[in-house]
Amino acid sequence: MKKFTKIMALGLALTLAAGALAGCGGSGSSSKETEAPAQESAGTIVFGTNAEFPPFEFTTTEGVIGQYDGIDMAIANKIAQDNGMTAEINNMEFDSLLVALENGQVDAVIAGMTITPERQEEVDFTTPYYTATQVMIVPEDSTIAKASDMEGKEIRVIQGYTGETAVQELGYAYQSFKKGTEAVMELVNGKCDVVVIDSATAQKYVSDNEGLKIVEDAEAFGAEEYGIAVKKGNEELLTKMNTAIESMLADGTISDIAAQYAEAGE
Ligand code: GLN
Repeated sequence: MKKFTKIMALGLALTLAAGALAGCGGSGSSSKETEAPAQESAGTIVFGTNAEFPPFEFTTTEGVIGQYDGIDMAIANKIAQDNGMTAEINNMEFDSLLVALENGQVDAVIAGMTITPERQEEVDFTTPYYTATQVMIVPEDSTIAKASDMEGKEIRVIQGYTGETAVQELGYAYQSFKKGTEAVMELVNGKCDVVVIDSATAQKYVSDNEGLKIVEDAEAFGAEEYGIAVKKGNEELLTKMNTAIESMLADGTISDIAAQYAEAGE
């Protein structure tokens, strides 16, 4: 539990440092396309998410936005509030999120989503609000101590996550699942040797399930930054979001929110 808080704090420290280095300027890539930006409906920002990624998004009885709760949900709510608007959530599969954004089905995507060059070809991202890395979840008695120890082992990842790409790049065979909980259940039931997933989410699964531990390998898995995605060219919404995110990073709101959900996980 202490470790959870530590990892979250590290994520924030790195994000803040990155923000400082970048001068906190709006780092969302500018678009070359000229098509009209998606219009957020009057007074409402519809956020797409995949509520299977604690502590960033999960479902509960009374969440911060309807049944949805987590760090991202609190951030989405604050962004809407800062702009005198209401946040609405459209929950869908992770793989469908960017398509829904391009179709105009949602105005923005907030889903612990790592900013990658491939995704930047499709959408624009806000200033990063959180820094994470991929880690390995293994049984407590596992001999896996670094990424290369996964060779020949039963590896599980989540479909479409950057963890899948990371394992692909290492060149190891794996099986993918649609939900983190499904992959972690395989581990709990002794059906696989390792699950590769984002750090804060891994910590949550390790806290919630007996007999698991986290193995980090900073050489194999680099830092990843989470951003909110908007449709390419939607400068108006991107600016609103960046202004809100930068002020939440500067005044500590995002670290407070993260700490709050870290405690809730204990
Ligand atoms: N950060 C990972 C990615 O962007 C996982 C995100 C998620 O599961 N919500 O692929």
